[in-house]
Amino acid sequence: AQQTRELTDRRAQLLAGSYRLFYREPVHLVRGQGQYLYDADGRQYLDLYNNVASLGHCHPAVVQAVTEQMQQLNTHTRYLHERILDYTDDLLSTFPAEKDWRAVYMCTGSEANDLALRVAQAHTSGEGVIATAEAYHGTSALTSAVSPALGSGQPIAPTVRLVPAPDTYRTGIADIGTWFANQVQSAIDDLRAHNVRLSALILDPLFSSDGVLPGTPGFLAPVVDVVRRNGGLIIADEVQPGFGRTGERFWGFARHGFVPDLVTLGKPMGNGMPVSGLVGQADVMASFSDRLPYFNTFGGNPVSMAAAQAVLDTIRADNLQEHSLHVGELTRQALRDVAARHEVLGDVRGVGLYTGVELIEDADGRVPDAGLALDVVENLRRQGVLTSTAGPDGNVLKLRPPLAFSSGNVDWLAGALDASVHEAVT
Ligand code: PMP
Repeated sequence: AQQTRELTDRRAQLLAGSYRLFYREPVHLVRGQGQYLYDADGRQYLDLYNNVASLGHCHPAVVQAVTEQMQQLNTHTRYLHERILDYTDDLLSTFPAEKDWRAVYMCTGSEANDLALRVAQAHTSGEGVIATAEAYHGTSALTSAVSPALGSGQPIAPTVRLVPAPDTYRTGIADIGTWFANQVQSAIDDLRAHNVRLSALILDPLFSSDGVLPGTPGFLAPVVDVVRRNGGLIIADEVQPGFGRTGERFWGFARHGFVPDLVTLGKPMGNGMPVSGLVGQADVMASFSDRLPYFNTFGGNPVSMAAAQAVLDTIRADNLQEHSLHVGELTRQALRDVAARHEVLGDVRGVGLYTGVELIEDADGRVPDAGLALDVVENLRRQGVLTSTAGPDGNVLKLRPPLAFSSGNVDWLAGALDASVHEAVT
């Protein structure tokens, strides 16, 4: 604890305040392996916090690929090198075959979404962007304008309209697809009334930061129709659901049976190497790249591409997509059993290894309880489980472990949640 305090003090002296730490008492990490993280006292944690180390922390295939490539060559994309071509061949083979795709690489999800928005604006000659009310798409000027989840004080541009996310549990609306399409149609009408032409709807097909709202497969079809009828493009932000996490399909949009115009990739793409990408339909990409050059010093460098290749190879070799589907179902079954014992645990929902759990005041009113959710997150940490919250009311536990998450880990998580909720309500 003494050392933690010293580090926290040093941090406050050295780093800008916007880098906030998680937890009331910060976790001082020294090592990661597989689905586990270890603190300075040797304590083991199950990492359900984010989906970057999707194969598992320090995965040997990625470590080896990065090490070998770093020893041989690392350079930027304005020289010819094969790595980027071999990887892109492989990556694009996971996209719907009926379209011709082009890729461009960068280092963060924010850059990918920033470029996607610019490409959409160039292609449509429109400025208007629609996003969901608690979305998170990045920190650049353009993406922070469509990221209300960054918190109050963020300026939302006059060309942006926010629509409520499609939340069946909270609204009680069964045909949420039609309802969502109507919300988007109203936003388009409002843009038009202000002489703003629509460029794109940007959405995370899992609505992760809107509170983990996977919905039923296909429910996004009506909204896709509405946007296209009004001349807009669909940007699927796959930073959260992509790379097999949902189990059912390799990409979140594929669950809904539509083909986006632009797709952005990040987080798990390099299993910890900062690599991201924008994949778009060739004609859409051309209307930007024929006019404006794009350059990113580190984007698509051979070391990042080597990491990304190892990620694709390992997902296939270890059947991680199927594993995600299977263990994800086990997770929700186990958590529903726990929820049956606690009135304050509401909906347990998700797809593959991405699960949201509602913390509510009581079962009937479904009134969100953010304070309780934060207490449960703190208690879970003492049970050795690291996770966080999401949603407009901050009351949804967001559980997204590395894909190596095992059935034994499911028992650990369920026991920890049971004990954490019990402790929080008594
Ligand atoms: N899109 C989504 C859906 C995200 O969750 C995030 C990061 N949380 C981003 C984009 C931005 O990615 P990055 O932090 O790598 O810029």
